[in-house]
Amino acid sequence: MHIPPIALVKGNHPMSSAATTDEAIRGIANWGMSLGSRNAQTSRKASEEFGSLTFNEEVQRARLPRDVYRALRRAVAHGESIDPAIADIIASALKDWAVEHGATHYTHWFQPLTGITAEKHDSFLSPSADGRAVAEFSGKELVKGEPDASSFPSGGMRSTFEARGYTAWDPTSPPWLLTTSHGTTLVIPTAFVSWTGDALDKKTPLLRSMESLSKQAVRILRLFGSKAQRVSTTCGPEQEYFLVDRQFYFNRPDLINAGRTLFGARPPKGQEMEDHYFGAIPERVLAFMMEVERELYRIGVPVKTRHNEVAPGQFELAPIFENANVATDHQMMTMEMLRRMAPKYGLACLMHEKPFAGVNGSGKHLNWSMSDELGNNLLNPGETPHENIQFLVFCAAVMRAVNKFQGLLRFSIASAGNDHRLGANEAPPAIISIFLGDMLTDIFQQIEKAGSAKTTKSGGILDIGVSVLPKLPRDAGDRNRTSPFAFTGNKFEFRAVSSNQSIALPNVVLNLAVTESLDYCATELEKSLKEGKKLQAAVKLLLVKLVKENKRIIFNGNGYSDDWQKEAAKRGLLNHRTSVDAYAEALKPEVIKTFEKYGVLNERELHARYEVAVEQYNKSLNVEAQLMVLMANRYILPAAYRYQTDLAQSVAAVKTAGASAKETRRALDDLCLLTDEAKVRVDQLQKLLEHEGNGNAEKHAKYFRDKVVPAMEALRETGDSLECIVPHDVWPFPTYREMLFIK
Ligand code: ADP
Ligand code: MG
Repeated sequence: MHIPPIALVKGNHPMSSAATTDEAIRGIANWGMSLGSRNAQTSRKASEEFGSLTFNEEVQRARLPRDVYRALRRAVAHGESIDPAIADIIASALKDWAVEHGATHYTHWFQPLTGITAEKHDSFLSPSADGRAVAEFSGKELVKGEPDASSFPSGGMRSTFEARGYTAWDPTSPPWLLTTSHGTTLVIPTAFVSWTGDALDKKTPLLRSMESLSKQAVRILRLFGSKAQRVSTTCGPEQEYFLVDRQFYFNRPDLINAGRTLFGARPPKGQEMEDHYFGAIPERVLAFMMEVERELYRIGVPVKTRHNEVAPGQFELAPIFENANVATDHQMMTMEMLRRMAPKYGLACLMHEKPFAGVNGSGKHLNWSMSDELGNNLLNPGETPHENIQFLVFCAAVMRAVNKFQGLLRFSIASAGNDHRLGANEAPPAIISIFLGDMLTDIFQQIEKAGSAKTTKSGGILDIGVSVLPKLPRDAGDRNRTSPFAFTGNKFEFRAVSSNQSIALPNVVLNLAVTESLDYCATELEKSLKEGKKLQAAVKLLLVKLVKENKRIIFNGNGYSDDWQKEAAKRGLLNHRTSVDAYAEALKPEVIKTFEKYGVLNERELHARYEVAVEQYNKSLNVEAQLMVLMANRYILPAAYRYQTDLAQSVAAVKTAGASAKETRRALDDLCLLTDEAKVRVDQLQKLLEHEGNGNAEKHAKYFRDKVVPAMEALRETGDSLECIVPHDVWPFPTYREMLFIK
């Protein structure tokens, strides 16, 4: 499909940035005209497309010998390991299928600690004795890969001289085909471990945490008479993102290198009219979304909803939930697809938590639950939750987990980018608490008082007052957008997760915390039963205790209010306002002990994650501050000097002509003051950046937070004031108004 380029800036002569911006706007305006022809091609039905590029269960059944297929499904369903002989047969079928679909290469795809994905492509072709090449792929190649691991961060687990790292096939996540106009590659999801067996990636601990949760959850299910043998965590992440025109993007060094604007005055119109949320999706954006969805569909990602978000230029995409491991792979693929597809539509996709000051940032709501292998959702309360004691145990176990591991949950979402969002009256506060809603809160209060609950509050019927409209059943409680961790009907929604991060770590932490809690609950219940108590009585005893000890974590009120800050302090809840405060949570003895006890991360592996997180914080801030210095010195100050000259010449000319230039003179004075202030502030920031880290990353992070960030804020304030007075044709960057509203 040929796409006409959108208004490329031509010529060798330097163009003023205003001219570039005007070009960009012309390109955007013309875009609609070419849209019709582009979308003329009709595609196959979405239902036929779904998974057409994945080696899914259906393809496996069709292509594998029966016993091999069964062994593979057993591995997927029960975590059994796969025999090398069987791996050979699977590899061969997988290769044939991929080659038939045009694949020439395969890659072991993994998720190193950087938070993005990595791949190294190998050809299927091997030279044959008669001088030709044949496509080959053995079980060994499927099962194990060995990329050079030395350039991936290991948080000190491995030095460059012992660089060996292995990728190991994850049979539970189906391989798919990465197709571009230049060729097709078979992508095999893998775990990434060091020569010593330490997890160097995000998938390994996720798989370990899912296994450990399953064990404990099954213990509890047994007590309730269930025959289930495995419990999986399920997860559906909602992805928020911004789209800006690519030409604006290319004219913003900050967007290119930091993913967010480091300067930019608030536009006259922001999101105050609230006219973007759920509004009609602009045509170019819709075309982009549709292609992203089609491509994701083909590789088996079940995307479901799309809509405008609160901020202008902000959008959201959400899939149908899946097993948390597959959902995490699919989430990474979704982010990649959004990024890769945007240029095709002349757009840039911004996944940063706060690309624009003054309008909402982006998050990623992590919907999370547990389900047994028969598909029963363990967090489904049913019609009468007060009678559903199994549900109450699982729900209360989550409550205990969140209360006990608040700090670790806060750690799992800490990053320089998320600091701009959490607690900024648009996202949840940095205090971790649970919203349960009126119905469940009422049940837990009854349990605490009377030992059991007798009723379930119902929402009744919503009468809209128009007879033709249907009567809607009303939920027992309203939604609460301000809570970082909310119960939403039949799942919990961890809302403090950032738009830019992999959902692996928040999933791991949640799984671990709940595992520990389920273990506790199972042990308590087993003890009571052994002492001769009936199940009902044992549950009652446990629930009362859980509610009493953990109810401080429940908060149904307004998380944005100052009152909550005070109330939370009174309740002794943690309030790590910045990520730097939160990093050390990962190293608390209780946390290390728990990770080790359930085999999710050993101390070395956990420490590595802490170290990489702090290093990433330092690196992001260093890049941002350096960029600000560059933008101020090479773009903003020269523009201000140019305008100073213009104004000074104007004042001189007016005076020579014998007229008074009183107000123009004042404008010149104001400009000079601001320009000088900008110069002083950029020098201050530059000076601060000369500070050496001296090896202690966390100390350095504190330095960034306490010294560098305020200096960045000060410089930005002056830069933004200059933007408000420097003329359009002199100002070097596209403005917020242009980037957010011209689509
Ligand atoms: P809401 O509007 O409350 O955010 P939706 O029903 O639109 O709820 O779901 C949001 C996300 O939650 C979707 O990705 C959905 O697939 C996911 N979700 C729904 N049920 C579950 C579950 N049992 N486990 C995990 N995620 C779920
Ligand atoms: Mg939601």
